[in-house]
Parts: sequence; C-alpha cells; structure tokens
Amino acid sequence: MIKPEETDKFTGARRKMLDIDLRGRGIQDIRVLRAMEDIRREAFVPANVRSQAYSDRPLPIGNEQTISQPYIVALMTEKLKLSADSQVLEIGTGSGYQTAVLGKLVKKVFTIERLGELSESARKILSELGINNVEFYVGDGSCGWPQKHKFDRIIVTAAVPELPPRLIEQLNEDGLIISPVGYSGVQELILYKKKKNKISQTSICSVRFVSLLGKYGFQE
Ligand code: SAH
Repeated sequence: MIKPEETDKFTGARRKMLDIDLRGRGIQDIRVLRAMEDIRREAFVPANVRSQAYSDRPLPIGNEQTISQPYIVALMTEKLKLSADSQVLEIGTGSGYQTAVLGKLVKKVFTIERLGELSESARKILSELGINNVEFYVGDGSCGWPQKHKFDRIIVTAAVPELPPRLIEQLNEDGLIISPVGYSGVQELILYKKKKNKISQTSICSVRFVSLLGKYGFQE
C-alpha cells in the first residue's frame, strides 16, 4: 500500500494527465474523467517506474506485460458508453487499473487474467482502494467467462487475431465490445455492436497492445 504522503506528490501529475492527455485529446465523458481523477494510477505500477505513473504511455508491470497508457484507457472506456447498471466483462486484468476505472462506473465487473500472479496483485489493490464490485477469474479469456453469463459490454485489453466467437455469444442484445484486433506490432482498435443478433463494427484508431495468448488468441 502506498502511504498517503507519497500519494500527495502525484496529485499534480494526475491533474495534468486529465487536462493534457485526456481532455486535451478529446475525452469528454465526465464520468470517465471523474473516475480517472479518483483512481491513483501510481498504486498499480511497480515501484521502479512509479515516478512515471502519469506519463501518457504504457509501463511495464512484470511478467512481460504492460499497464495501458491513460489516454487509451479513457478512450476505450468512453467508447463503451457505460451506464451505472451495466455488467462488464474485461479480458486481460493486468495491473487492474482499467478494472478499477470500470468498477467505479458500472454495477459489476467480471475480469479474466491468464497469469495468477497479476490477478492476485490486482485483486489486492482493488480491495485496498475499496472497489468491491469485481469478480476475478484466472484462465483463458479468449474462451469467455467460464460460467453461463451475458454481459452488456466487453473490453479486451490485449490484441486478438480476430474477435473470439465466445465473446460475441456472451454479449447481450444492443451490447458493445471494444478490442484491439490484428497481429503483433500495430492493431486496429475496433468497436463492435450487436443488434438483432448481427454484429457491426467501427474502426477507431491504430493501437499497440501485447498479444492475447490462448485458444482463440495467439499461440502460447
Ligand atoms: N488492462 C491492463 C492491460 C494488461 S496487458 C492494464 O491496464 O493493466 C494485457 C493482459 O492480458 C496481460 O496481463 C496478459 O497476461 C493478459 N492476457 C493475455 N492473454 C490472456 C488470455 N487469454 N486471457 C486472459 N488474460 C490474458
């Protein structure tokens, strides 16, 4: 746990992130901005890179994984048009930062992480921050949530070669999925919408994510 006096040092950096990297780049959803103002990103990054917690770029979180850059977290969250009663599935818990942002905004978050160590650390940080509406699962998120469940929104925070079919099945009517799609290097961030059991898609921008490894992701 980071001590309160240590956290004070980051308040200015967090405000700057909100003004320059989020509002300054077009993020307008006030609920998303508030959530990111509330959540201390420094709590999610390892001590050796903590001084860079508010630079607008991904940072290493161990196990060759990264915490996504703040602008991309804000953009993906905004595009999901969340409401307070949404149930959201997240694939790729990682540090738990995106999970925490979602947790502040919706009724319930279900999050899947392949690596037990990362899932455990995220669970601990969220509990310390008092975010208690999250269910964690360790396993292959390319196969969806292990139990029968439908979600209003799905967010994939690692690159997939194409959208895993099980995720489409687990999405409610009028639901949205946001995911980076493409091969290692650069991918396209795509927003999918399910309407009358048909899926339409909109391309948002180019992004760089680590690969989703698993049955419907890339080979391990
Ligand atoms: N949202 C996270 C991003 C983490 S990077 C954050 O901001 O911290 C992507 C994460 O996806 C990594 O932690 C990686 O271990 C995880 N991952 C990769 N393949 C996966 C799979 N098949 N199922 C669940 N998680 C997976």
